[in-house]
Amino acid sequence: MKRLPLAILIVLAAVAVWFFKRTPATPETGTRVPFQNLPAGLADQFSGENALAHVKAIVDFGPRPPESEGYEKSLVYLEKEFAAQGWETRRQSFRKADTVVGPKTFTNLIARHSAGVRDWTRSTPVVIGGHLDSKLITAFRFVGANDGGSSTGVILEMARVLSSDPAAAAQVEFVLFDGEEAFLENITPTDGLYGSKYYAYSISQRATWPSLGIVIDLIGDSRYGYYYNPEAPPSFADTVTRVAAQTGLKLSRPPGPIIDDHVPLQNTGLPCLHIIGDFVNMPYWHKPGDTMEVVDAKALEQTGRTTLKFLAEVKP
Ligand SMILES: [Zn+2]
Repeated sequence: MKRLPLAILIVLAAVAVWFFKRTPATPETGTRVPFQNLPAGLADQFSGENALAHVKAIVDFGPRPPESEGYEKSLVYLEKEFAAQGWETRRQSFRKADTVVGPKTFTNLIARHSAGVRDWTRSTPVVIGGHLDSKLITAFRFVGANDGGSSTGVILEMARVLSSDPAAAAQVEFVLFDGEEAFLENITPTDGLYGSKYYAYSISQRATWPSLGIVIDLIGDSRYGYYYNPEAPPSFADTVTRVAAQTGLKLSRPPGPIIDDHVPLQNTGLPCLHIIGDFVNMPYWHKPGDTMEVVDAKALEQTGRTTLKFLAEVKP
């Protein structure tokens, strides 16, 4: 297992303590929608090449920071692709007046299959998310092929696979988060995770809640290892470790918690699985080199299949 450098680990741990201490109380009302395991055969239908084509399409729209033309074009692309597979989408827009760089409007995209729950004040059993935005960097052109693009491609291909089984598709809500990236250098309690914090709040206000959440990020490069969230329930850790071994995904437990879009979801009391590539060892992380050259179909396929196998086997 690759080791996170100690200095980074200490920073991550300090930030993590701050985040996890801010856990809001789980709302009293509401019930979790029971989850049924997905059919085991779905995972084999996941195509890394299909996912890769989606990543390329998104990267071709250019940088995707919040409020950008590239972000809007990506939303339109996602809406069209989801619709083609029988998924209905909704934009969840909100304005935040006090980001670290002033007022900003963010837009998450939520998708549900036409066979699923039509009442959007109620939840599906599962939410699967990843961030769509790319980090706003002015010093060079940053397209975030792996960082933001890869998980988006996997989500679109999962939507296609699930649409072959409406009963399975009906259990899932996909969400593409805006504003995962911090405007300043690193994610802090007041910068970054804008979209997931808003989404987490919104699902906590529903009449019913999901039973489990999955967040994927930076999963497009098979040359590096992957981490799951050490704060995941033990049954999640056991299941994902077992199925990752079957798909060839090099997954391990990191030395400490990693802050990402799953944290606001976990803070509502939702049990979550987070899968993230070992970004600390990616020399191109938040650098000009995060382009299509670093994304490979094998990595996308291993992550997509691991996620679907996890949903076929986990007991939440
Ligand atoms: Zn990033």
